[in-house]
Amino acid sequence: MPDYDAIVIGVGGMGSATVYHLARRGWKVLGLEQYGIPHEMGSSHGYSRMIRYTLQEHPNYVPLVHRAYQLWHELEDASDATLMVTTGSVRAGPPDSPFFKNAQESCDAHNIPYEILTAPEINKRFPGYQFPDEISSIFQSDGGFLLPEQCIVNHVRAAEESGAEIHSQETVLDWEPRGDEIKVRTDKGVYIARRLVVTAGAWAGKLVPAVRGHAIPERQVLGWFEPENPDLFRPETFPVFGMLTEEGRYYGFPTYSVPGFKIGRSHHLLQKVDPDQMDREVHDEDEAILRKAVSRYFPQAAGRLLERKTCIYTNTPDEHFMIGVLPGLPEVSVAAGFSGHGFKFASVIGEIMADLAQKGETSHDISLFRLDRFNG
Ligand SMILES: Cc1cc2nc3c(=O)[nH]c(=O)nc-3n(C[C@H](O)[C@H](O)[C@H](O)COP(=O)(O)OP(=O)(O)OC[C@H]3O[C@@H](n4cnc5c(N)ncnc54)[C@H](O)[C@@H]3O)c2cc1C
Repeated sequence: MPDYDAIVIGVGGMGSATVYHLARRGWKVLGLEQYGIPHEMGSSHGYSRMIRYTLQEHPNYVPLVHRAYQLWHELEDASDATLMVTTGSVRAGPPDSPFFKNAQESCDAHNIPYEILTAPEINKRFPGYQFPDEISSIFQSDGGFLLPEQCIVNHVRAAEESGAEIHSQETVLDWEPRGDEIKVRTDKGVYIARRLVVTAGAWAGKLVPAVRGHAIPERQVLGWFEPENPDLFRPETFPVFGMLTEEGRYYGFPTYSVPGFKIGRSHHLLQKVDPDQMDREVHDEDEAILRKAVSRYFPQAAGRLLERKTCIYTNTPDEHFMIGVLPGLPEVSVAAGFSGHGFKFASVIGEIMADLAQKGETSHDISLFRLDRFNG
C-alpha cells in the first residue's frame, strides 16, 4: 500500500495551491518543503504580486487569470483573510510596442474593458506617476496585487484542515518510479505515493530531467523607496504598473504591509544562477538600476531605500510556463518555468495540477505550456 495518494515537492506558490486542491478532493496528500512556510529563498516573497487582465504574454492567459481571480476570492472567503488588493493596473509603454499592443489585444480578445490614457492624463489622475509624452498607458480597473505569503499560508492552512500533511524543513533528495508508484527520498525519510507532483520553482531542473536546461533560474532584486508624499503612493491613489521604457521593463506597487514604494526591473541584470549558490545581497549597482526609474518616472518616491530583497525568476526560452504529465511516466506531473509572471495564476495552477494528478488531463487550456516543446 502506498503511504499517500500524492506527494507534492515544493510548498511555495504553486505547491501550496496544489496540496489545497488535492486535499479538498479527498486525496491523502503529503507536501514536502525544504525551507519554512513561507520563506524568502525562492520566488514567492516580498509582500506583493501583481494580478491583471492586461496579459501581453498571450491571450490564452486571460481565461486562466479569470479562473484564478475566482479561486483567490473563494480562498479569501473560506479563510476570512485579505489576500488581494484591487488598485487597478497600468500597462505602459510606447503605444506601437508589442508590450503595449499585445496587452490591449489580450483584453480585446476576451472583452475585458480598459481605458487608454496619454501621459498627461495618467499623471493627472494618479499624480505619483510622471510619465513622459512618449509613454501611453492601458488602465484596467480589476488589476491589483496579491499578498503572496498570505496566499501560501492560507492555502496550506486550508489544505491541512482538509487532511493534508505538510512537512517543512525537509528536503527531497531524489525520487524514482517503483512499479506504478513513486518512491520519494528526503533527508528525513522515504515515502511512497501513487502520484508525484513537482512544484519546485527554481529547483525544478535539479529534480526533473525533462525541465532541466529549459527552466533557468535568474537573480532578481526588489527595492522599497521612501516617498516624499506618501499619500500619492497608497493603494487608493496608485495603481500597480508594468512599464516598458528605454531603461528596461519595470514594475511596481503602492505602499502596503511595509513602508515604501516597491519597484523592480524584469530580468534585472540577466544573471543566470544556481538557487543554492545565488548572491542574495543587494549591492549599490542593484539599487542604482531601480533608483534610475524611480527618479525619472516616480520622482516623488525617490527618497531613501528602506528595504531591499533578492528573489528568483525561473525562465523558459519563450517565457511560457512548463506544465504537464511527464512523457512515459503518467504518475508524475510538473509545473515549472513560471518566468516571472506566475504567481497570479497559482490558485488555478493548483487546480490544474490536481486534475493532472487525478485524471492525467485538465479541461483548462494548457497547450501553450507543453513540456516537450523545446525538444527539437
Ligand atoms: C521579484 C519577482 C517579482 C515577481 N512579480 C510577479 C508579479 O507581480 N505577478 C506574478 O504573477 N508573478 C510574479 N513573479 C513570479 C512569481 O512570483 C513566480 O512565478 C511564482 O512565485 C513561482 O512559484 P513556484 O511555486 O514555482 O516557486 P516557489 O514559490 O519558489 O516554490 C517552490 C518551492 O519548492 C521548494 N523546493 C524546491 N526544491 C525542493 C526540494 N528538493 N525539497 C523540498 N522542497 C523543495 C522551494 O523551497 C520552494 O518553496 C515574480 C517573481 C519575482 C522573483
